[in-house]
Amino acid sequence: MSDSVTMEKLVSLCKRRGFIFQSSEIYGGLASAWDYGPLGSALKNRLQSFWLREMTQLHENIVGLDTAIMMHPRVWEASGHVENFTDPLVDCKNCKRRFRADQIPDENLKDKKCPECGGELTEPRNFNLMFKTHIGPLEDDGSIVFLRPETAQGIYVNFRNILQSTRQKIPFGIAQVGKAFRNEITTKNFIFRTCEFEQMEMQYFVHPSQDKKWFDYWKNERIQYYYKLGVRKNKLRFSQHGPDELAHYAKEAFDIQYEFPFGWQELEGIHNRTDYDLKRHTEFSNKDMSYLDEITKERYVPYIIETSAGLNRSLLMVLSDAYDEETVEGETRVVMRLHPRLAPVTAGVFPLVKKDGLAEKARVIAETLKEEFNIFYDQGGAIGRRYRRQDEIGTPFCVTIDYDTKDDDTVTLRYRDSMQQVRVNVGNLAQRIADEIKAYKRTGE
Ligand code: ATP
Repeated sequence: MSDSVTMEKLVSLCKRRGFIFQSSEIYGGLASAWDYGPLGSALKNRLQSFWLREMTQLHENIVGLDTAIMMHPRVWEASGHVENFTDPLVDCKNCKRRFRADQIPDENLKDKKCPECGGELTEPRNFNLMFKTHIGPLEDDGSIVFLRPETAQGIYVNFRNILQSTRQKIPFGIAQVGKAFRNEITTKNFIFRTCEFEQMEMQYFVHPSQDKKWFDYWKNERIQYYYKLGVRKNKLRFSQHGPDELAHYAKEAFDIQYEFPFGWQELEGIHNRTDYDLKRHTEFSNKDMSYLDEITKERYVPYIIETSAGLNRSLLMVLSDAYDEETVEGETRVVMRLHPRLAPVTAGVFPLVKKDGLAEKARVIAETLKEEFNIFYDQGGAIGRRYRRQDEIGTPFCVTIDYDTKDDDTVTLRYRDSMQQVRVNVGNLAQRIADEIKAYKRTGE
């Protein structure tokens, strides 16, 4: 499989076809904020549902949750974010640019030399990444709230509620998808790092003596998940956090990285957060966050294994992994090899020509398929061009209604990846598409 993707091609396709637009574009745009268009929002929703299905539907002991973005300010003291959620920043005294000290070359930091203009850099200063705002009409210290920098804390503070309302027994998990906000200084690479983003987090509560077992279990489950999404295996790898990279709460951590067009970067973090969070919330709220094992009568504070993935970052990964170009009959064919479960449009339905009753017949077929799949109907232009437009947005199937359809009730089913065409009876079409989605394997895997 060729690796023809570049960020430039991706950004341009995303805009042209309605996946992703710059936020507030008519006003010149807002740095690092993006809007998801008709295809992008559909793809994002599908990725989110795929994750939720994987986590909650396929695991009886994982329940869903959806918590508020604004929480009691004490939450962020307890979690350690007020104190520790900082990036070390350096400023250039000459060009006034600001950098994350851990993201510039070591020599520059040592020599205090700006990587852009060579000017003098300041000493690193810690800068808190949480966005602050006020609730109510008074802008005083008593009204401060933060926009959550991670969704995890909403899960921890509901630990007792979930235990009481669902009667789950340890080990069990809580999953949620939601927005998080970080005042990132260096935002670049399209939607990779932004100040507003969505996380898909699952917190798994375990007995402290079982932490290693469950950590390894989730590490394996999570990489398998990306294979299921149809992502190429050689583009994924683990990267372990060294002792000096571990977050303040973590005992062991691995990232799952993907090889983006701009290099290997984190996609998801898997952390053993120990009993840090529940103990801190016990201390700060004065509420008991321990768990009683009804069989052994042991009371303990569970350890937490966290899997934390970025939804927008996953979307960028899926798009860059899917992008492919090949030469067909002397022309470049751009094809998004998206997994059919994720593709925003599942099938294009086309009458070969508008006349002779073919359009009417095609409409009826499209209406029936719509009950189960996301369908795009198009009756204009050369059929080859209609196929290419669908290839470019990753539509895995196209259905063409031609003169034979009128005689024998068969249609052409055309596959995006192989461009192969087969005749299928109209009555079997929906089932055939459903079966193909289930059986899908990416070419070359
Ligand atoms: P980094 O070190 O790159 O700033 P992190 O290690 O702090 O990231 P986590 O706190 O582990 O990231 O967040 C879990 C996941 O949330 C990340 O793997 C990533 O997919 C996503 N994520 C974190 N920050 C951002 C961001 N600014 N924009 C988009 N996604 C993000």
